[in-house]
Amino acid sequence: MARKFFVGGNFKMNGSTEQIKKIVSGLNNAKLNPEVEVVIAPPFPYLALAASENKQSTVAISGQDTYYKDNGAFTGATSVSMLQDVGATWVILGHSERRSLFGETSEEVAKKTKYALDKGMKVILCIGESKEERDSKRTFSVCSGQTHAVIKALSPSDWANVVIAYEPVWAIGTGLTATPVDAQEVHKQLREFLTTNISAEVANATRIIYGGSVNAKTAPDLSKEADIDGFLVGGASLKPEFIEIINV
Ligand code: PGA
Repeated sequence: MARKFFVGGNFKMNGSTEQIKKIVSGLNNAKLNPEVEVVIAPPFPYLALAASENKQSTVAISGQDTYYKDNGAFTGATSVSMLQDVGATWVILGHSERRSLFGETSEEVAKKTKYALDKGMKVILCIGESKEERDSKRTFSVCSGQTHAVIKALSPSDWANVVIAYEPVWAIGTGLTATPVDAQEVHKQLREFLTTNISAEVANATRIIYGGSVNAKTAPDLSKEADIDGFLVGGASLKPEFIEIINV
């Protein structure tokens, strides 16, 4: 089964009303490859705006995090039903900035993932190793450990609504992109890990996308690798080149 190419734009804590309107209108006016699934993740205050301005049927809206409770005394948190209420159908979970700056553990990420999927949300699940972990040859043990925590929490059918984003931490926002060969190696190992720990069917169907300083120059070669099924784009998703990455 061919996996549909997937490009996510993670705006992180960037944007303003004016800027979000500009980005969405840029997407609205662009000729986007209809075969590519696109998801944009603006900060929470702009989700409803992005959803109402978006006119492209192939573009969906995503939150950048959520919580595993529906409502109540959880100051600062945003629930799945709130995200859905303002038009988001996806949520990014386990981003390395959430893990490193906000102390999220793989177990919390797994709990959030299961909760969001049970509520009908689709999930971009981020994993990835730090520079220190790569230098000490722990890339795969870190990535498989982060993935395994989620595998334990989900049932095989849940994976139909999950995209895995492999984002080496040392490549995020640094201008250092993993080479296509290096990224492909990790993606292939991850797919084998899904085969062994879930099933060949899930492994073949699950999109594994790459993130970390992807731009219009690096996207073409990365996209040619057999196990790279798209991108999660940070900085470049705020710029017109995001459209070139979608249409790579
Ligand atoms: P970057 O971010 O493209 O700016 O490196 C990617 C991400 O963190 O999702």
